[in-house]
Amino acid sequence: MENRVSAGNYDVVVLGSGAAGLVAALAAADAGARVGIFEKAEVLGGTTCLSSAVAWLPDNRYAREAGVQDSREEALSYLASLSNGMIIPELAEAFVDTVPELLEWLDTTPLKLSLVERYPDYHPEQPGGKPGGGRSLEPRLFSLQGIGAWAERLEGTPRRMVVGETPIGGGTGFLPEDVAREREAEQVEGLGRAMVAALLQGCLERGVEVHVRERATRLRIEDGEVRGVVFDGPEGAHSVAAQHGVVLATGGFEWDRALARDFLRGPLDHPASVPTNTGDGLRMAMRAGAALGNMREAWWAPVCTLPGERPDGSRPVYLVQRERTVPHSIMVNREGKRFTNEATNYNAMGGALHELDPTSFDYRNLPCWVVFDENMVERFGGFGRAPGEAMPDWVTRADTLAGLAERLGLPDGALEATVDRWNGHARRGVDPDFRRGESAFDGFVGDRTAYPGPESTFGTLERGPFYAVQLHSSTLGTKGGPRTTVRSEVLDVDGEVIPGLFAAGNVMAGPTGMVYGGAGGTLGPALVFGYLAGRTAGRRATTGDEKAVAAAAAV
Ligand SMILES: Cc1cc2nc3c(=O)[nH]c(=O)nc-3n(C[C@H](O)[C@H](O)[C@H](O)COP(=O)(O)OP(=O)(O)OC[C@H]3O[C@@H](n4cnc5c(N)ncnc54)[C@H](O)[C@@H]3O)c2cc1C
Repeated sequence: MENRVSAGNYDVVVLGSGAAGLVAALAAADAGARVGIFEKAEVLGGTTCLSSAVAWLPDNRYAREAGVQDSREEALSYLASLSNGMIIPELAEAFVDTVPELLEWLDTTPLKLSLVERYPDYHPEQPGGKPGGGRSLEPRLFSLQGIGAWAERLEGTPRRMVVGETPIGGGTGFLPEDVAREREAEQVEGLGRAMVAALLQGCLERGVEVHVRERATRLRIEDGEVRGVVFDGPEGAHSVAAQHGVVLATGGFEWDRALARDFLRGPLDHPASVPTNTGDGLRMAMRAGAALGNMREAWWAPVCTLPGERPDGSRPVYLVQRERTVPHSIMVNREGKRFTNEATNYNAMGGALHELDPTSFDYRNLPCWVVFDENMVERFGGFGRAPGEAMPDWVTRADTLAGLAERLGLPDGALEATVDRWNGHARRGVDPDFRRGESAFDGFVGDRTAYPGPESTFGTLERGPFYAVQLHSSTLGTKGGPRTTVRSEVLDVDGEVIPGLFAAGNVMAGPTGMVYGGAGGTLGPALVFGYLAGRTAGRRATTGDEKAVAAAAAV
């Protein structure tokens, strides 16, 4: 393995090595194109490596085999019911209609998927929603031995389990020692790095050349057609030819403060993605005259910060999901009041964190905290601690609710009144204020032994000490960017295809608008549109006849 920069002559150049880029490179190489992947970071895999790599792919054969009934029509009516005018129907149709072909094609690659059982859609009571799951797939355990020395050059750290073994999937998060030893000896991993390693292995087997520490800065456009890319690499600026296509797969723009300020609909702090996602692909597309879409949206997610610093100086973050869902835990705002269904999905919660108070003209629910008691610590643990283990030192605590409220600077008596009211709801198992527990999704990541009953998410806060952790309005990545055709070709501001330019993953105008359909809601579309980008660019290289390509692709 080396950081090769050849004379730089490819049919297809892919920018970024997350799921979208890798799948595009693999599909283009499969179609017969000479392909180069160029990654800005020193390591491969981007945010995809940090993820659980669940992919939301409706109407899939794994669900059918498990006896779950699903259909194209149900998937489309589900997305349409959540669109709020943001989803372009043709893109939603292209997404759903490509799933069978994508899955069949993935069978010919090292990436093998399986069903995450029973994982409900994130809005399962909507028309076409699936309360019993069936649309969330994940990579099977995968040995990194096949990617040789690249195993040392992946983002993140090894996680040797599948979702069902983690607390979110109903497992403990701990493996028996012999199983852990065996998986370590065989370099077996699950989740994000398994997805990246499997796709990477497929790319390497098909002769795709992979380069790291290469930041794409500009597109080379000749006679209106994208024909190459200028990079800033270890040896300085240089240019690489892309005869038949450039695929933008550079992730979102969440790490660029100016872009985030200018485009996003609400506050964003401490992104959970890799810090190299600074909107480079967006800027390149803008310079090429691309039409932009979905710019205000992101895959919103509440996080807390952890002590320490990442190499780039930012704070490490932790996605707070289970800790706000299990019994004995609520969320409060700066008035010490509950303000939302704490057990809802992270993306939808972004809406609650962005609520503007028209009188004070600021964000009513920021800052906010998840507040819990000793019963939660004992029964469920959290923030990386097993049930019964002491909470980390950085978690705020006090023996009484009044003491905790004082530490957080909440108005006198407010937190006690809120907890008192919540305890009444918890005892009855109903939440007339915010409808927590009504949806089949709500308790799924809570107490799985009680799911789907109300006890999966309802529990009083009465046993001290009491704890609080501040939550921030964060994101897994933005999802606005260049508008595309149903084949991932980038469109210009007049609605014409920019020849030779493709986009997939978080860099593109997200085909699902505001919606996070279910677990895997970001990677499902990233795989589909990455596949479409790679297939279209690859066929462009091998047939040379764009009209024939378009006709072939329009199946
Ligand atoms: C903790 C966590 C858990 C998650 N779990 C899930 C999940 O289970 N399911 C799901 O659907 N989503 C999940 N997500 C979100 C998901 O990981 C991302 O939405 C997805 O990985 C985005 O894929 P991508 O290929 O578009 O971008 P990325 O994977 O971020 O890859 C983009 C790559 O482009 C590179 N790049 C940027 N600029 C340039 C440039 N100028 N030149 C060259 N390269 C460049 C970056 O360095 C990066 O490596 C999770 C996220 C987090 C943080």
